Amino acid sequence: ILDIQNLKKKYHETEVLKDISETVEKGQVICVIGPSGAGKSTFLRCLTLLEQPTDGHILFEGTDLTSLKEVQLDELREKMGMVFQSFNLFPNMSVLDNIKLAPMKVKNMAEDQATQTAQKLLAQVGLSDKGDEFPTNLSGGQQQRVAIARALAMQPEVMLFDEPTSALDPEMVGDVLKVMQDLAKEGMTMVVVTHEMGFARSVADQIWFMDGGYIQEKGTPEDFFEHPTTERAKDFLSKIL
Ligand code: ATP
Ligand code: MG
Repeated sequence: ILDIQNLKKKYHETEVLKDISETVEKGQVICVIGPSGAGKSTFLRCLTLLEQPTDGHILFEGTDLTSLKEVQLDELREKMGMVFQSFNLFPNMSVLDNIKLAPMKVKNMAEDQATQTAQKLLAQVGLSDKGDEFPTNLSGGQQQRVAIARALAMQPEVMLFDEPTSALDPEMVGDVLKVMQDLAKEGMTMVVVTHEMGFARSVADQIWFMDGGYIQEKGTPEDFFEHPTTERAKDFLSKIL
């Protein structure tokens, strides 16, 4: 579903992504892990062209995103849901309205249908009773689950997560990971940048270990966590496990 070809990204003279070629298959869950500053967020942002790659191509369902004009790009971006560390909900709108906004505005969905969809999604993330609340009245974990529901409302083909739990109090993390795990089970294609090694281990089909601008190592969670082959991966794991 995603074909990343020789992706490079430079900021001024700093080469953050040096040469990355990988593919994500439909239904796969990829967890991207690596030290701070490795380029994980930059990588994720390049996948949706929120960040313009310096070189290389990103093919989404066969279409080269790097060749598209902004309008066409916007259309394809609708199929790629993004969830960030900060939830970025619209503070002046109820939870339901947050979720309904894009489907109504972008997809011209009728209001009742959007409401129905939103309620279904709220149930899916365990927040059926919070539709009329404003985001500020919710905990961080609840807000993040709303952000996930909001992304899902556009019926994306792939969901990209950038450290979705790292801004949360520890007791909130589990609920958010549970929602993500359920999504994975339902077959959603997901690329997840995370420091949650338990999640990566139990949910990922593949781990991509990023360091120094490259995917240094990739493999199944067993391979990566039990038998890392590169020194960098061994070193990283020895620090965090
Ligand atoms: P973390 O785990 O801390 O989130 P990361 O792996 O996501 O780290 P990135 O945020 O992708 O790392 O940053 C990689 C490198 O690129 C860093 O050295 C950072 O300073 C640099 N960088 C990121 N964004 C920009 C930018 N807009 N302009 C200049 N340099 C940037
Ligand atoms: Mg980051």
